[in-house]
Amino acid sequence: MEDEEDITQAYDNSHRAFLQAFMARGTMTFNQAQPILAAIFTVHDLDEHKNGNIEEEPEVTRPEQVTREDFESYVSAVSAAISPFDMEIRSTTHQVSKERVYSLINTTSDPMTQLATLRSAEEMAFVRRVIDAMFDRYNSPRMEVLCLDGMQANKLRTAPRNEDDGSGNGNGAGENGVGSLKGLKSSEVEQVLRGLVDEGWFERSRAGFYSLSARALTELRQWLVDAYNDADAGDAEWQRVKFCEACREIVTVGQRCAERDCCIRLHDICQEAFWRTRKERACPRCSTAWTGKHFVGERAVTETEAYQRGRRRSGRGGGRSSLVEDIMDEGEDEDEE
Ligand SMILES: [Zn+2]
Ligand SMILES: [Zn+2]
Repeated sequence: MEDEEDITQAYDNSHRAFLQAFMARGTMTFNQAQPILAAIFTVHDLDEHKNGNIEEEPEVTRPEQVTREDFESYVSAVSAAISPFDMEIRSTTHQVSKERVYSLINTTSDPMTQLATLRSAEEMAFVRRVIDAMFDRYNSPRMEVLCLDGMQANKLRTAPRNEDDGSGNGNGAGENGVGSLKGLKSSEVEQVLRGLVDEGWFERSRAGFYSLSARALTELRQWLVDAYNDADAGDAEWQRVKFCEACREIVTVGQRCAERDCCIRLHDICQEAFWRTRKERACPRCSTAWTGKHFVGERAVTETEAYQRGRRRSGRGGGRSSLVEDIMDEGEDEDEE
């Protein structure tokens, strides 16, 4: 890629079309790009033929004919073209699927501003409450869930009334002028969550949990660290945002050290290679045996006996609705030292 020759490829309509598709989606993986580039190549060949630039009969390009090299060459051409406009393409590995996810990023506006585009102040205040819940309320040394289900999100549709000293501005969260906000209706909550998933900010799991997507983790990385971590804390102290010991990316789904206050974490996709180079499966910081059964993410809830039991009994209406909340709350009182 660092070869100068790569740049000799002219930037043409096919690159513009690719950029448009990228902008419409926000993020792109190689698999998602294949059919898009196939369609672009097909049209491009047809045009070139019509204009007399190529003599051979134009052919239809099939998605599987688009190679990783094609994709990378388009990503790098588009990257170069957008950089004068303060845009950038960054890539990150999805912490579960291991796929490389490319995100189109505006380097001048902060990510929270980008998240706020197309959203009302009410909706943004709700989004802030959801992210706060992921990284604060549902993320403690006892249970690092870092996600929440639709039921829990729905409870966040209005600002909490507690801590209200009569000013009517209950939630601090560093926001100004939220005093007049009334909150969202349940139907609006669903709509906002769906929008966040569609735009690639949130992911919704099979079990119904919402978490930050690979794109959000890339774009919000610094913001999350600033918002939720204590900059003055020592290296060994528990922090809300933690990084994989192997790849150094944020872990919101993965494995944790069994020692509650230790902050060593590993992605499931990184752990195998990590242990291969070591003599024993013990935490590199505190030497506690690594169980692989202490989880970060929704499995911190779904792998509990209470959840499994609850699922089996879930026939009764409404019973399951608060199950997740109950399990997270139970964790609060459990074995206080
Ligand atoms: Zn990792
Ligand atoms: Zn440890």
